[in-house]
Amino acid sequence: MPPDLQSIVDEIVAAMATEEARGKVATYIPGLATVSPAHFGMAVVSADGSVALGGDAELPFSTQSVSKVFALTMALGKVGDQLWARVGREPSGNAFNSIVQLEAEQGIPRNPFINAGAIVVADVNLAGHQPREAIGELLRFIRFLADDEDIHVDEVIARSETETGFRNIALANYMRAFGNIHHPVERVTGVYFHQCAIAMSCLQLARAGRYLMLDGLLPDAGRVISARRARRINALMLTCGHYDASGDFAFRIGMPGKSGVGGGILAVVPGKASIAVWSPGLNASGNSQLGTKALEHFARLTGWSVFSSR
Ligand code: GLU
Repeated sequence: MPPDLQSIVDEIVAAMATEEARGKVATYIPGLATVSPAHFGMAVVSADGSVALGGDAELPFSTQSVSKVFALTMALGKVGDQLWARVGREPSGNAFNSIVQLEAEQGIPRNPFINAGAIVVADVNLAGHQPREAIGELLRFIRFLADDEDIHVDEVIARSETETGFRNIALANYMRAFGNIHHPVERVTGVYFHQCAIAMSCLQLARAGRYLMLDGLLPDAGRVISARRARRINALMLTCGHYDASGDFAFRIGMPGKSGVGGGILAVVPGKASIAVWSPGLNASGNSQLGTKALEHFARLTGWSVFSSR
């Protein structure tokens, strides 16, 4: 019998409400620092299209690095496997904003989910466009995936990212010195900062992730990407989606997942469900404290993971 997803989500929401250790919200910009750690939301969209929601599932939050999944999908649509000449596919084992490996590796970032890799992806998505158009194209793509027009860039967050993003600007300059950034740095980082500032709810995010659970297909809209590409993006999420704690996430949860410093996580069980959780308090590795816990409960209660036969 398939698990009753709504009662599982209800059980998880109730368990998370009593958690005292809620982590620490990101403080590098006011737009994130002022969000209450009391929030918790969860949305599960299953392969048959049914939806289970709990807590603040319909409240928009800053997706931050979760948006890297959609930007990567778009870049692969533009340049295909040529992307892999400019971005690697290995976990970094270093902090998400680390610059150290770039020197030894000639300006080629380890993977598309660390900041340096996502900045190269932004450079790819910028080709032939003004920055505003590149962001518009990404937003349209995400709205299409989620089948929801009400998804926007939070301009206040985008401005703060721009004002404080010295390290990301440094990463972009450093890679430009190696010839791995092809457009002026302020344009590329403009795209990157706005992409980080895309706000979505758990429901919107879980809907946007459906193509990754369905081998690249959307039930009503047809093929988004090939099954092979969906499998590869899932593989990258599993190995690189949680900063330098990606191994621990795979060990504890066993699902491809991508987290962001806004406290959101998108997780996928191929053939079964697309799941989004949000709670803004982060653990020591920068991943949502309760979001990770909630997914651990979810994996246990459903028995679902990419490493089990259920
Ligand atoms: N805006 C953040 C940065 O680029 C995003 C970090 C994240 O979510 O991992 O540093």
